[in-house]
Order: sequence, then structure tokens, then C-alpha cells
Amino acid sequence: MKPLTLHLIDLSVPGGSITRHEPDETLVRVDDLGITRGDGIFEVAAVLHGTPLALEAHLARFARSARMLDLPEPDLDLWRRAVGAAAADMADQPGLTAVKFIMTRGIEGAASAPTGWALGFLADDPAPAQAEGLDVVLLDRGYRHDVADTSPWLLAGAKTLAYAINKAALREAERRGADDVIFISSDGYVLEGPSSTLIARIDGTYITPPVSLGILPGTTQGDVFADLERQGVPTRVDTLSVNDLETAGAMWLCSSTRGAAPIRTLDGRRITVDHRATELINTGLDARRQ
Ligand code: PLP
Repeated sequence: MKPLTLHLIDLSVPGGSITRHEPDETLVRVDDLGITRGDGIFEVAAVLHGTPLALEAHLARFARSARMLDLPEPDLDLWRRAVGAAAADMADQPGLTAVKFIMTRGIEGAASAPTGWALGFLADDPAPAQAEGLDVVLLDRGYRHDVADTSPWLLAGAKTLAYAINKAALREAERRGADDVIFISSDGYVLEGPSSTLIARIDGTYITPPVSLGILPGTTQGDVFADLERQGVPTRVDTLSVNDLETAGAMWLCSSTRGAAPIRTLDGRRITVDHRATELINTGLDARRQ
């Protein structure tokens, strides 16, 4: 990640204020709960030629995560302006850029306001993964499929700053010679990747698992399905078992900065990469302007 632009959002003043800073400036205190506890939320929106993609869906998910963590309701207009300013700063960048926006619970021990900022950065080129496909392994997340109902304090499905587990899963994938992961529940339901949503095509229908399993509502998957539906291609939100994946004709991991990356092996088993469908899906994603 190469930081390009930074906007601090001061949430302690009425209405909030946005100030621009150098991207390498030190602005966050060492006793901020975002740093000491990973207690906060974030979003990453891809930016093409200065326009954030799927911004409204990211803002809606940001507000959903805030509710799940009992954080103050974010003023979405303020956040929209901050992300827009960061994106506009990067309009001249030739490649894919992105804005990560963060709200933490603020400073430990103080009755302080949340801390907020929006960081614009140069994203990794998504083209290689889209063209070549990913080697993926299944890993047990260790929770049942109904964890969101039985144990909401585990925050399954909130986009919190605590991604150390997701990163550990990716290192485990690397140890197994793979690029990425699909988590499964302890009782065998297919969930999501550590930073992506799964779409599987089974008998011509594009299927993604439901958020009721304690997974994130994927903004990219949402836009892929909207585009497919416009073309009359069948889509479905449905639970999938590990066995169901054996019948899948093609599969993709989708995320804001990677688009739809096809899966070429799953636990070492070859999966057909549908290059034409992948290209059509990613062309649709690149055409978004919101
Ligand atoms: N699931 C998880 C756990 C994620 O962290 C992400 C994105 O980072 C996604 C799914 C995909 O979401 P989006 O398509 O909105 O980037």
C-alpha cells in the first residue's frame, strides 16, 4: 500500500470538520482504542479516475458496522465528503487507487469523540489475479453458521479493525502454497474470504452465501449480481455446503480492490476458469460511477 493522501475527520466539533494532511504525518495518538484494541470500523472503496466506486454501499455498511459495535452513528454526509475529497486528490493517478476510511472508539479512558480519517492509496494491480486466477484453500473459521444469532458480541459480519485473524489465515494459505482462503463454519457452511465474498456458479446460477451466516455484505458481489440480473442471468443468495462447491462450474472471490478474481484451484483441485465471464463481470464493475 502506497499512501497518497490523508484527510483527518475531527468528530469532536459540531458537524465535524475535514482537514487535509500529508499522508506520512503522525496524527493518531498511541492510546487510541483503534490501535490498542482494534476497536473501530473501516471500509475500503476503490477509486477510478477520482470517483469512488459503490460509495453508497460502503457508507451503508460503515453505518451497519457502527451499530453492531455500539459506536456513534456516523454522519454519512461528512464521511461522503471526506472520501470524495481523498478520491478527488487521486484523480490523476493512472492506476487503481482506493480510499480506506476508519472510525475508532477514540482515546482510551477519556470520554472522547471517535477518531476518524480517510487515507487514499495506490492499490495493487488487480489484473494478474483476474487473468490467472487464485489458488484457494478452505479453512475452518471455528464458529457455527448461526454465530451471529447466538453470540452477537463476537461481531461476526462487522467490518472491524481487528483483522489480525484474517491476516493469519492468509499466512496459513501461503504456508499451504495458496493465495487465498474461503472460510467455512465449524458445521460445514461456506462463508467468505478474509477480505472477499465468494460467488459460485452452479448449473448456470450465480450463488453467494447469505449475510445471516455472520459474513459481510459484499459491495462488489452486490454490484456483480445487479449487473448479472440486468442481463437476465440467474442469481441466488443461498447457503452452500463444502460438497456444493464440488459441483460448481466456476467460482470467484470478489472485493473492492480486486474485482472478481476467478478461483483456479480449491484445496489443490482444479477449477475451470471462465475467462470470458470474468472479463464481462470486471468490465461491468469498472463501468460503475456513483
Ligand atoms: N468479506 C470480508 C471479510 C472483507 O474484508 C471484504 C472486503 O474487504 C469483503 C468480504 C468484500 O467486500 P467488498 O466487496 O465490499 O470489498
